[in-house]
Amino acid sequence: MTRKVRVRFAPSPTGPLHIGGVRTALYNYLFARKHGGDFILRIEDTDQKRFVPGAEDYINESLNWLNIAPDEGVQQGGPCAPYRQSERMATYRQYADQLVAAGHAYYAFDTEDDLNVMRERLEAARMPAKYDAASRMSMKNSLTLSEDEVNRRLENGDPYVIRIKLPRKEEVRFHDEVRGWVVVHTAQMDDKVLLKQDGLPTYHLANVVDDHVMDITHVIRGEEWLPSAPLHVLLYRYLGWEETMPKFAHLSLLLKPDGKGKLSKRDGDRLGFPVFPLEWNDPKSGEISSGYRESGYLPEAVLNMLALLGWHPSDNRELFSLDELVEAFSLEKVSKSGAKFDADKARWFNHQYLMQKDNSLIAAEIKQQLTDRDYSASQDYVEAVIGMMKEKVNFIPEIVEAGYFFFEDPTSYDEKVVNKRWNDDVVKHITNIADRWNSLEEFSAEMLESSFKTYAEETGINPGSLMQPIRLAVSGAAGGPPIYDMIALLGRETVVRRMTSADERIRLGSS
Ligand code: GLU
Repeated sequence: MTRKVRVRFAPSPTGPLHIGGVRTALYNYLFARKHGGDFILRIEDTDQKRFVPGAEDYINESLNWLNIAPDEGVQQGGPCAPYRQSERMATYRQYADQLVAAGHAYYAFDTEDDLNVMRERLEAARMPAKYDAASRMSMKNSLTLSEDEVNRRLENGDPYVIRIKLPRKEEVRFHDEVRGWVVVHTAQMDDKVLLKQDGLPTYHLANVVDDHVMDITHVIRGEEWLPSAPLHVLLYRYLGWEETMPKFAHLSLLLKPDGKGKLSKRDGDRLGFPVFPLEWNDPKSGEISSGYRESGYLPEAVLNMLALLGWHPSDNRELFSLDELVEAFSLEKVSKSGAKFDADKARWFNHQYLMQKDNSLIAAEIKQQLTDRDYSASQDYVEAVIGMMKEKVNFIPEIVEAGYFFFEDPTSYDEKVVNKRWNDDVVKHITNIADRWNSLEEFSAEMLESSFKTYAEETGINPGSLMQPIRLAVSGAAGGPPIYDMIALLGRETVVRRMTSADERIRLGSS
């Protein structure tokens, strides 16, 4: 019988979700959708010391914003609720006990001092300083103490942890869907703590138990968890769950733009791109980190960009809607090597999606910006501005920033154009053209163009030498949307006023 695909994204709420984590969530989402399976969000908050208020809400909000919300999770509920590990604490202990009873785990009573002494001793002997098959026999645990002593300590309430008992010499092998066969020798591993002194599980125990109980079929997660995977494989085996052990897929890292090391929060701040999906206001330090959403990225663009950072479609296509990603995605095409983050490419993706986005939807998004600037214009006018400006920019707010002259007279004039092309002769021509345009029957792009051409023919002036100055007079800028369309949209009165007052305004500005 084939099992229904069930995958999970299992972040710890220790801060804002890194964009690499978002990619992990996305690959899980795509895999689940592709195979008609379930995508689960599990909050791994067993480590209360690292808990950060607001981080869980941040995770939910990020997935919602990106339109990749889970099928089951803390917000959605589901058959395996609760989805927050801190609310499942009662369930883990029995499995630790089961492992002890089966001889695969043991009680360890060592104090912090005992552990330090052990580490120093091993370091002095130039041995790996770890609690393992070799060192555990000189420590205070249920393998070295008598049964009576162990029972006495337990009854006495002495503090202890439960550690896994790793075999001394064994190769742990498992097949990773991205990396192929992974083989790790237990001599390289250590007897990890499964249950802590406070009776709470560590990540390893809680993660494996929940993946089993939640019937997870594929564990798709970041490469940083690869070293933990052999331990998890042994836990599945020792708990008797090997038959239904999930398949593993460890995703390579998202690298800094220069490829040297993992993309970090600092890189974003330094190089001017966000590394978090949403803006994050750190509750402790008050530090604010920028987010894709607040920086004007469209969720579709972020998803498309992330999908291609580490996964390669079979052709060279770059633009994929979410549905198309679902269709095309496969773990076989996930790359083993790290993917370099490329800020220019991120902006390029945003531009592509901005171009596709409906003008009326963009209009709704810039409404506030227009109000803040005291600009008022009809819906049709705003949409026409958007239609002209979106080709020129990468982000929605830039439409109003770069196209402000659609709403007010230019406040500055491109210096280069002024220096190169603005002179008395040009001013004279511009005034004449303004006159002609003022008396046009219809102020349309076609009429404007033909009237200008006639003027150029009559005066013998090179039309090219006037185009940029006209644009300058009307918009202040050296470039922009197609000139006659722009002028027609601005309207007769505005254009004539700007053309006839430009000389004075430029002189005032440059004096
Ligand atoms: N809680 C781990 C994390 O924060 C989950 C790792 C896993 O997916 O197994 O990334």
